[in-house]
Amino acid sequence: MRYKDCMQRTNSTRAFSKACQVIPGGVNSPARAFGGVGGQPIFIARGEGAYLIDVDGNRYLDYCGSWGPLILGHAHPRVAEAVNRAMANGASFGAPTELETQLAELIIELMPSIEMVRMVSSGTEAAMSAIRLARGYTGRDLIIKFAGCYHGHVDSLLVSAGSSATTLGVPTSPGVPKGCTQDTLVLRYNDVQGLQEAFRAHANKIAGVILEPVVGNMGLVTPSKDFLSALRTQTQQHGTLLIYDEVMTGFRLALGGAQLLQNVKPDLTVLGKIVGGGLPVGAYGGRADVMKKIMPAGPVFQAGTLSGNPLAMAAGLATLQELRDRPPYEHLEKLGVMLEQGLGALGVGRVQRVGSMWTLFFNADPVVDYETAKKSDAARFGRFFWAMLDRGIYLPCSQFEAAFLMKVHTEEHIRQTIAAAKESLQLA
Ligand SMILES: *Cc1c(COP(=O)(O)O)cnc(C)c1O
Repeated sequence: MRYKDCMQRTNSTRAFSKACQVIPGGVNSPARAFGGVGGQPIFIARGEGAYLIDVDGNRYLDYCGSWGPLILGHAHPRVAEAVNRAMANGASFGAPTELETQLAELIIELMPSIEMVRMVSSGTEAAMSAIRLARGYTGRDLIIKFAGCYHGHVDSLLVSAGSSATTLGVPTSPGVPKGCTQDTLVLRYNDVQGLQEAFRAHANKIAGVILEPVVGNMGLVTPSKDFLSALRTQTQQHGTLLIYDEVMTGFRLALGGAQLLQNVKPDLTVLGKIVGGGLPVGAYGGRADVMKKIMPAGPVFQAGTLSGNPLAMAAGLATLQELRDRPPYEHLEKLGVMLEQGLGALGVGRVQRVGSMWTLFFNADPVVDYETAKKSDAARFGRFFWAMLDRGIYLPCSQFEAAFLMKVHTEEHIRQTIAAAKESLQLA
């Protein structure tokens, strides 16, 4: 493929230094700052199908997709039209609209375990609210999470493991009081025994277990069958709610999310990203008897001025309708197989993939949890990332993230990407 050996990025450099004057670190979310690969972020002017165009006019084939939401690609006509139509009628009313019911109905139709759903404005907000609900419903305080899973910047989930599997967590960010994390247990992903021990030690005090059913946030990590079934049986046995965080996997791995692939019925599901079609939306839903505890149906408080916002609902509805009417999942799987085999044949690193989510780990061993993920060669990933960027391929800027295929990717794109990777791996 054609590429400029050293892309001009002077406009991005200027934009970044201006941004740094007025925005902490120059970005509104730290993952964008290229901290995991070194150097400065590039500034985007616009997106076009599978491509990003930066403020210097460089074009990149995009495998970040806004970190997951853009399964249909940039500026999809059906989504753009729906948002424009909604905008013409007014951006927000602080009163109910029929769009909210329509999106709720569609989510319930597509996601087998969801009987009722509440809209919020981000994945973080959805996870935070689901945890409050689990605690309110069960009358218990403890939450189990797994190291390496990310559920947004919720105080009680910004926590790393204590000294053993059954001791409570410690905050990972200044500003999170110990009090906020002392009811969170952090366990190892895929560790069945650790899970059983935690339930033995804290039986009947655990309100909920939250996990990414396929992990994207330490790079792509899959759960074992045993782990999945232990999660369901232990939670059921102890009256604990099983909370699937499908912010990344929902409507991506299948219309019905990871839970459909895994044939698991969680009690609550947390959604975000694709459900908003590129606009800020989160949602949480599940068993009706649990969801009816939310105010005003029940006593658990949760509210939002812009929750169910008409523009956001229109974007989400158009996206889910398009996914339902013309499912891209076979196409995505086919491209995924091609990419996995092509990168695998280069003999460097290890591709871990489920459907349209994948990570090239620079790691000698299979990555099954946070411990093994951390052994990856992140410096080498950084060199690989920049070599790919110079060849017009935009990957998520960290070894510990999933990359995403979009419906608008083609077999030709995959061939270009494998060719670029072959050169980049030699340089990295
Ligand atoms: C992105 C993400 C979140 C947080 O969503 P935001 O919209 O960024 O707040 C939560 N959980 C998972 C699994 C995610 O990937």
